[in-house]
Amino acid sequence: MIELKPDIQFKKEIERISGASLSTCMQCGTCSVVCNLSPDEQPFPRKEMVYAGWGMKEKLIGNPDVWLCHQCGDCSTHCPRGVNPADVLAATRVATYRNYATPGFMGKLVSMPSLLPLAILLPAIIIAGIIWLAGTFRIPEGPVNYSLFFPHGWLNSSFTLLTLASYGLAAIGISRFRKDLQGYAFGTDGPKGNFWSGFWKVKNEILAHSRFSKCVQNSGRKTAHFLVFYGFVLLLLVTLYAIYAAVTGKYPLAFSNPFKILGNIASLMLFAGLGIMIVNRLTRKEGTKRSSYSDWLLIVAMLLLTLSGVVIETARFLDWPFAYHLYFFHLVCVWFVIIYLPYTKFGHIIYRTVAMTYAFSRNRK
Ligand code: SF4
Ligand code: SF4
Repeated sequence: MIELKPDIQFKKEIERISGASLSTCMQCGTCSVVCNLSPDEQPFPRKEMVYAGWGMKEKLIGNPDVWLCHQCGDCSTHCPRGVNPADVLAATRVATYRNYATPGFMGKLVSMPSLLPLAILLPAIIIAGIIWLAGTFRIPEGPVNYSLFFPHGWLNSSFTLLTLASYGLAAIGISRFRKDLQGYAFGTDGPKGNFWSGFWKVKNEILAHSRFSKCVQNSGRKTAHFLVFYGFVLLLLVTLYAIYAAVTGKYPLAFSNPFKILGNIASLMLFAGLGIMIVNRLTRKEGTKRSSYSDWLLIVAMLLLTLSGVVIETARFLDWPFAYHLYFFHLVCVWFVIIYLPYTKFGHIIYRTVAMTYAFSRNRK
């Protein structure tokens, strides 16, 4: 016998984030039938719609199937009741970031629109405080040189420490998530497998973005994610080289430096990928009836990060008068994307990898 423990607040939260009216689902199962990513055994998302409708939080948070969904929207397109199961699963993922956020206020900070001013103010105050401690909190005279405003040693060490602290705290929550995944039974599917073999399969999936290829309704999602993913990876590599160049006294890089060229190619890839995502969302081609606050927060933060990166580069070469103000804004954007990562929708790169690794290690097809 299954003991039901409805959590009405959780049900309302999912309805608020997704915009779905859960009570209108008639359990026809069409969504599971049309989903190309759903396995034959215990398919999703129909069962998740039951859990959500009953407010069964413990069945949804820590449910690996929620992360096997890649939000292609095919289920929403075919749902005869217009319930939008794709959005319901997306809302569950947002609730998951918040549920496992450690410390808890970080999850609220980046998921509640009313806290956005505080989410911006916090990095602005901390960055200003670090520059003040470095003794350079003033606009330098002469040609633009960002290291005169925020010395490289202070910048690299403080941002590295802050990122490690953020990820270290988030790791506590993610280990709780992993533990909860292990308590989730897949029924009659494969026996418990090896973590590393599961991780190897997931790595291949991520590199090829192969699961996106199975989307029928929104095939453009793969191109957009592909461009953003590899653009971001390229930008990370360039940033690591820039840190190395700063430590060895070779910074700033010339326009003709291969890493500078790679950085500009990465920016173009990000602009293209984010542009497709924005157009798809505005024209609702993503298969979602509506985009949530978390979706837009990540897209806008990444766009501003890329845009401000290009602008401060131009400002340095052209000696713009507001170069340092723009640089400060760019650093706040870096914080938003990198330091807040485990708490925003960007955290899906961690949560999805962990959940898929568990599912694949159990031979979940
Ligand atoms: S969400 Fe829609 S398609 Fe899925 S079971 Fe409910 S009514 Fe049917
Ligand atoms: S959004 Fe796509 S992957 Fe997710 S449940 Fe619906 S059809 Fe399946």
